[in-house]
Amino acid sequence: MIRFDQPAYPTVFFSDLIYVVCPKCQQVAKVETHFENESKSASSAKQSVLSCKHCGLVSTAGQKWFGDYQAFVNIPCGNCGSSMVFSSEPVKQISPNICLTCTTCKQERAYEPQWFRYKKDHAKDPYFGLDIYLQIAVKNHTLWLYNVKHLQYLRDYVSATLREDDNRHKYSMITNLPQWVKSAKNRDLILKKLHSLEQTYYKISLK
Ligand SMILES: [Zn+2]
Ligand SMILES: [Zn+2]
Repeated sequence: MIRFDQPAYPTVFFSDLIYVVCPKCQQVAKVETHFENESKSASSAKQSVLSCKHCGLVSTAGQKWFGDYQAFVNIPCGNCGSSMVFSSEPVKQISPNICLTCTTCKQERAYEPQWFRYKKDHAKDPYFGLDIYLQIAVKNHTLWLYNVKHLQYLRDYVSATLREDDNRHKYSMITNLPQWVKSAKNRDLILKKLHSLEQTYYKISLK
Protein backbone atom coordinates (compact mmCIF):
# COMPACT_ATOMS: atom_id res chain seq x y z
CA MET A 1 0.00 0.00 0.00
CA ILE A 2 1.30 3.41 -0.92
CA ARG A 3 -0.27 6.15 1.14
CA PHE A 4 -0.82 9.69 -0.15
CA ASP A 5 -0.33 11.86 2.91
CA GLN A 6 0.96 15.13 1.53
CA PRO A 7 -0.35 18.52 2.65
CA ALA A 8 -3.61 19.66 1.03
CA TYR A 9 -2.29 22.30 -1.31
CA PRO A 10 -4.69 24.34 -3.44
CA THR A 11 -3.82 24.61 -7.14
CA VAL A 12 -2.71 28.23 -6.70
CA PHE A 13 0.08 26.96 -4.42
CA PHE A 14 1.84 25.58 -7.48
CA SER A 15 1.33 28.71 -9.57
CA ASP A 16 4.55 30.54 -8.64
CA LEU A 17 6.11 29.14 -11.82
CA ILE A 18 4.00 28.31 -14.86
CA TYR A 19 5.38 27.19 -18.20
CA VAL A 20 3.31 28.73 -20.98
CA VAL A 21 3.34 29.01 -24.75
CA CYS A 22 4.95 32.34 -25.65
CA PRO A 23 2.37 34.55 -27.43
CA LYS A 24 5.10 36.02 -29.64
CA CYS A 25 7.30 33.08 -30.72
CA GLN A 26 5.21 30.03 -29.61
CA GLN A 27 8.14 28.52 -27.73
CA VAL A 28 8.16 27.86 -24.03
CA ALA A 29 8.03 30.93 -21.77
CA LYS A 30 7.71 31.39 -18.00
CA VAL A 31 5.13 33.14 -15.85
CA GLU A 32 6.67 33.76 -12.46
CA THR A 33 4.52 35.03 -9.61
CA HIS A 34 5.67 36.47 -6.35
CA PHE A 35 3.47 35.73 -3.32
CA GLU A 36 3.26 37.89 -0.24
CA ASN A 37 3.12 34.98 2.18
CA GLU A 38 4.23 31.36 2.45
CA SER A 39 0.73 29.90 2.20
CA LYS A 40 0.43 31.34 -1.34
CA SER A 41 -3.28 32.10 -1.35
CA ALA A 42 -4.73 33.61 -4.54
CA SER A 43 -5.16 36.98 -2.81
CA SER A 44 -1.49 37.08 -1.84
CA ALA A 45 -0.31 36.80 -5.44
CA LYS A 46 1.46 40.09 -5.92
CA GLN A 47 3.29 40.38 -9.14
CA SER A 48 3.39 38.11 -12.15
CA VAL A 49 6.01 38.47 -14.84
CA LEU A 50 5.98 36.77 -18.21
CA SER A 51 9.38 36.22 -19.77
CA CYS A 52 10.57 34.33 -22.82
CA LYS A 53 14.25 33.64 -23.24
CA HIS A 54 13.72 32.61 -26.85
CA CYS A 55 12.41 35.94 -28.17
CA GLY A 56 13.09 38.27 -25.24
CA LEU A 57 9.45 39.11 -24.54
CA VAL A 58 8.88 40.49 -21.03
CA SER A 59 5.49 41.55 -19.72
CA THR A 60 3.94 42.30 -16.33
CA ALA A 61 0.50 40.98 -15.42
CA GLY A 62 -2.20 43.60 -15.74
CA GLN A 63 -0.68 45.03 -18.91
CA LYS A 64 -2.21 42.48 -21.17
CA TRP A 65 -4.67 39.58 -21.00
CA PHE A 66 -4.24 36.97 -23.73
CA GLY A 67 -7.15 34.78 -22.70
CA ASP A 68 -10.85 34.98 -23.44
CA TYR A 69 -13.43 37.39 -22.06
CA GLN A 70 -16.96 36.84 -20.89
CA ALA A 71 -19.80 39.39 -20.99
CA PHE A 72 -22.41 39.83 -18.27
CA VAL A 73 -25.63 41.79 -18.49
CA ASN A 74 -28.03 42.23 -15.58
CA ILE A 75 -30.40 45.10 -16.32
CA PRO A 76 -34.08 45.84 -16.94
CA CYS A 77 -35.28 45.50 -20.53
CA GLY A 78 -35.21 48.91 -22.21
CA ASN A 79 -38.74 48.38 -23.51
CA CYS A 80 -40.81 46.58 -20.86
CA GLY A 81 -38.59 46.72 -17.80
CA SER A 82 -38.44 42.96 -17.19
CA SER A 83 -35.16 41.90 -15.73
CA MET A 84 -32.62 40.57 -18.19
CA VAL A 85 -29.78 38.38 -17.03
CA PHE A 86 -27.28 37.15 -19.56
CA SER A 87 -23.76 35.77 -19.61
CA SER A 88 -21.96 35.17 -22.88
CA GLU A 89 -19.81 32.32 -24.06
CA PRO A 90 -16.09 33.07 -23.73
CA VAL A 91 -14.94 35.25 -26.64
CA LYS A 92 -11.61 36.57 -27.90
CA GLN A 93 -12.64 40.21 -28.38
CA ILE A 94 -14.54 42.72 -26.29
CA SER A 95 -17.31 44.63 -28.07
CA PRO A 96 -18.98 47.70 -26.53
CA ASN A 97 -22.53 46.45 -27.12
CA ILE A 98 -24.29 43.13 -27.50
CA CYS A 99 -27.75 42.50 -28.92
CA LEU A 100 -30.18 40.74 -26.63
CA THR A 101 -33.81 39.78 -27.09
CA CYS A 102 -36.09 40.21 -24.09
CA THR A 103 -37.78 36.92 -23.22
CA THR A 104 -40.92 38.80 -22.06
CA CYS A 105 -41.64 41.38 -24.80
CA LYS A 106 -39.40 39.82 -27.50
CA GLN A 107 -37.84 43.16 -28.38
CA GLU A 108 -34.21 43.12 -29.42
CA ARG A 109 -31.94 45.92 -28.27
CA ALA A 110 -28.23 46.62 -27.87
CA TYR A 111 -26.96 46.58 -24.29
CA GLU A 112 -23.65 47.52 -22.78
CA PRO A 113 -22.26 44.49 -20.95
CA GLN A 114 -19.65 44.24 -18.24
CA TRP A 115 -16.62 42.30 -19.42
CA PHE A 116 -14.57 39.94 -17.30
CA ARG A 117 -11.46 37.91 -17.92
CA TYR A 118 -12.52 34.32 -18.44
CA LYS A 119 -10.56 32.08 -16.07
CA LYS A 120 -12.55 28.87 -16.07
CA ASP A 121 -10.55 27.45 -18.93
CA HIS A 122 -7.97 25.73 -16.80
CA ALA A 123 -5.53 24.85 -19.55
CA LYS A 124 -4.60 28.58 -19.45
CA ASP A 125 -2.50 30.34 -16.88
CA PRO A 126 -4.60 32.50 -14.53
CA TYR A 127 -2.36 35.59 -14.72
CA PHE A 128 -2.03 36.21 -18.48
CA GLY A 129 -4.50 33.76 -19.99
CA LEU A 130 -1.81 31.98 -22.00
CA ASP A 131 -1.86 28.32 -22.98
CA ILE A 132 -0.17 26.08 -20.45
CA TYR A 133 2.85 24.40 -21.99
CA LEU A 134 2.81 21.16 -20.00
CA GLN A 135 -0.45 19.74 -21.27
CA ILE A 136 -1.35 16.44 -22.84
CA ALA A 137 -4.48 14.73 -24.14
CA VAL A 138 -5.84 11.86 -22.09
CA LYS A 139 -8.66 10.25 -24.06
CA ASN A 140 -10.94 13.25 -24.72
CA HIS A 141 -9.65 15.27 -21.76
CA THR A 142 -6.66 17.50 -21.20
CA LEU A 143 -4.20 16.95 -18.41
CA TRP A 144 -2.31 20.15 -17.62
CA LEU A 145 0.31 21.05 -15.03
CA TYR A 146 2.02 24.29 -14.12
CA ASN A 147 5.49 22.91 -13.42
CA VAL A 148 7.40 19.83 -12.33
CA LYS A 149 6.58 20.22 -8.60
CA HIS A 150 2.92 20.24 -9.53
CA LEU A 151 3.53 17.15 -11.67
CA GLN A 152 5.30 15.26 -8.89
CA TYR A 153 2.53 16.07 -6.43
CA LEU A 154 -0.13 14.76 -8.78
CA ARG A 155 1.93 11.67 -9.55
CA ASP A 156 2.25 10.91 -5.83
CA TYR A 157 -1.51 11.12 -5.56
CA VAL A 158 -2.29 9.07 -8.65
CA SER A 159 0.18 6.32 -7.78
CA ALA A 160 -1.02 6.03 -4.19
CA THR A 161 -3.38 3.16 -3.56
CA LEU A 162 -4.44 4.62 -0.23
CA ARG A 163 -5.72 8.16 -0.55
CA GLU A 164 -6.60 10.44 2.31
CA ASP A 165 -9.96 11.74 1.15
CA ASP A 166 -10.89 13.54 4.33
CA ASN A 167 -11.89 17.13 5.12
CA ARG A 168 -8.29 18.19 5.14
CA HIS A 169 -8.45 18.20 1.36
CA LYS A 170 -11.71 20.12 1.13
CA TYR A 171 -10.38 23.07 -0.87
CA SER A 172 -7.32 21.40 -2.25
CA MET A 173 -6.20 20.73 -5.76
CA ILE A 174 -6.91 17.04 -5.16
CA THR A 175 -10.57 17.64 -4.31
CA ASN A 176 -10.96 19.74 -7.42
CA LEU A 177 -9.47 17.15 -9.72
CA PRO A 178 -11.93 15.82 -12.28
CA GLN A 179 -13.20 12.30 -11.69
CA TRP A 180 -11.34 10.83 -14.67
CA VAL A 181 -8.04 11.76 -13.01
CA LYS A 182 -9.10 10.23 -9.69
CA SER A 183 -10.51 7.08 -11.19
CA ALA A 184 -8.37 4.04 -10.33
CA LYS A 185 -9.07 2.49 -13.73
CA ASN A 186 -7.23 5.37 -15.45
CA ARG A 187 -4.26 5.15 -13.11
CA ASP A 188 -1.78 3.46 -15.45
CA LEU A 189 -2.75 5.63 -18.39
CA ILE A 190 -2.37 8.83 -16.37
CA LEU A 191 0.98 7.74 -14.97
CA LYS A 192 2.14 7.13 -18.53
CA LYS A 193 0.97 10.60 -19.59
CA LEU A 194 2.66 12.15 -16.57
CA HIS A 195 5.87 10.42 -17.53
CA SER A 196 5.57 11.86 -21.01
CA LEU A 197 4.96 15.36 -19.62
CA GLU A 198 8.00 14.95 -17.41
CA GLN A 199 10.10 14.16 -20.49
CA THR A 200 8.78 17.36 -22.09
CA TYR A 201 9.74 19.24 -18.94
CA TYR A 202 13.32 17.90 -19.05
CA LYS A 203 13.58 18.96 -22.68
CA ILE A 204 12.41 22.51 -22.02
CA SER A 205 14.50 22.90 -18.89
CA LEU A 206 17.63 22.02 -20.87
CA LYS A 207 16.89 24.58 -23.56
ZN1 LIG B 1 8.97 34.04 -27.11
ZN1 LIG C 1 -38.88 43.48 -22.60
